[in-house]
Amino acid sequence: MVVKAVVFDVGETLVDETRNWEAVADAWGVPRFTLMALVGYAIARGESHRKVREWLDIDVPPLERSFDELYPDAEPCLRRCADASLFVGVVGNMGVVHEAGIPTFVDFVASSERWGVEKPSPAFFERIVAETGRSPHEVAYVGDLVHNDIVPALAAGMVAVHIRRGPWGYVQEPPPEALRIRTLDEVPAVFE
Ligand SMILES: [Mg+2]
Repeated sequence: MVVKAVVFDVGETLVDETRNWEAVADAWGVPRFTLMALVGYAIARGESHRKVREWLDIDVPPLERSFDELYPDAEPCLRRCADASLFVGVVGNMGVVHEAGIPTFVDFVASSERWGVEKPSPAFFERIVAETGRSPHEVAYVGDLVHNDIVPALAAGMVAVHIRRGPWGYVQEPPPEALRIRTLDEVPAVFE
């Protein structure tokens, strides 16, 4: 196996954001179905989900993500990777506060806020590689967003693994060089 380190995105890769989006809808006084559909519309148009606030003409400040609910396959996957002697990291575009939702047995947990750089910046992926102490081609990044996770990871010379879940994961099509999975149960076997 060429891959020696695997680093995971957080939102919709390890963490189910459903309750968070429901809380946003409730805080904005918008029916949940309406909000979810508008987020899907933004994704399909290739726009940021932040656009939805504009369409709804919402004045209240955006709600900080408040629920970090791991998908059922997340912790077993992290454990399997660690047991396979892979270096395991977790980092996504998020605040430092959300680092607390990640199991502590992994080798590192970080956030864009802690690093002061966000995906898809090349500096974000250079930092990932530096944290692992490996060569880029030995480091895999697993994520659900093609434009934020997959394309920049490949550009950095890393192995990119696209997980088809979460609204972006179903709408966006990864480039052929990316490995594709449907659940985290396929990691780390997908590297063999
Ligand atoms: Mg994500």
